[in-house]
Amino acid sequence: MGAERGINPPRPDGDGGADLHSHTCASDGTRSPAAVVARAREVGLSAVAVTDHDTVVGLPEALAAGERWDIKVLPGVELSTRLRQGERGDIEVHVLGYGIKLDSPDIRVLLRELTANRRDRAAQMLQRLAALNLPIDPQRLEAIAGSGTIGRPHIARAMMEKGYANSIEDAFRRYLDRGGPAFVEAAKPGTLTAITTLRRAGAVSVLAHPGLLRVDIIGSGYLEQMKAAGMVGIEVYHSRHDGPTCRRWQKTADRLGLIGTGGSDCHGPLPGKMEQIGSIRVPTATVERLLTAVENGSFN
Ligand code: AMP
Ligand code: MN
Ligand code: MN
Ligand code: MN
Repeated sequence: MGAERGINPPRPDGDGGADLHSHTCASDGTRSPAAVVARAREVGLSAVAVTDHDTVVGLPEALAAGERWDIKVLPGVELSTRLRQGERGDIEVHVLGYGIKLDSPDIRVLLRELTANRRDRAAQMLQRLAALNLPIDPQRLEAIAGSGTIGRPHIARAMMEKGYANSIEDAFRRYLDRGGPAFVEAAKPGTLTAITTLRRAGAVSVLAHPGLLRVDIIGSGYLEQMKAAGMVGIEVYHSRHDGPTCRRWQKTADRLGLIGTGGSDCHGPLPGKMEQIGSIRVPTATVERLLTAVENGSFN
């Protein structure tokens, strides 16, 4: 199964392809937005989408780099949302938004709230760690996180610096994973609300890495509801989807009339983690389909 990870759909000859999922230091990636775009160009991609968690502050720099180095940059975002499952509780669902208009008032308000909440949540997580005798200097954490949004990977890096964990994975496994002793839930908009808000910001929504959801939602009716709210695609290809997962979600996308997209979800090089931008590439035609959906004006 593992051997089939990172499969790519066929592309026409000469098409460098598009990696539609990447992170920069505006969220929990390690590279600057310009460096992500430069790297995408170096590995021969024709297009790259920058999709930071709950922020668009990296996009102006990424777009400018795209113009400078002649590679198409699709402005995006990855929103952490909450899908209500009634009695069974909520599940965390990530929604990618593409073609986002940076000056849209609704999305600005939402992203400002989410950014502020992430800061409060990080402070609460530091309190939990302090109670476990693992103090971290909030200023050091701020410095690691930089501008944009703060997340658990930044806390994990601070823990490594202090010798509290051997690796990012180790910090997650022992303290930061959901249910772990330092975990605090982040505030999240409802999935359908997020899709509608993105739509008002001129962006089309794509369900991110459905193979990583805690609950299988095929057949639940939720996908149909998301489509009705304006979702246009499903991220079929992802660096953590194996072959059978890709095939299953491609079938689902086809059945629902949704665009099958894909991306590496690269966070940049980290200790013990290989660079992987461009490891997942979909045909450039997929970007055209997304842009056509953006233009098709049903989005206002
Ligand atoms: P947050 O958005 O603050 O809840 O942090 C979630 C982010 O942490 C994800 O986007 C991943 O980049 C990263 N992450 C989640 N689980 C792990 C893990 N087990 N090991 C390393 N990184 C992880
Ligand atoms: Mn991340
Ligand atoms: Mn995600
Ligand atoms: Mn991501």
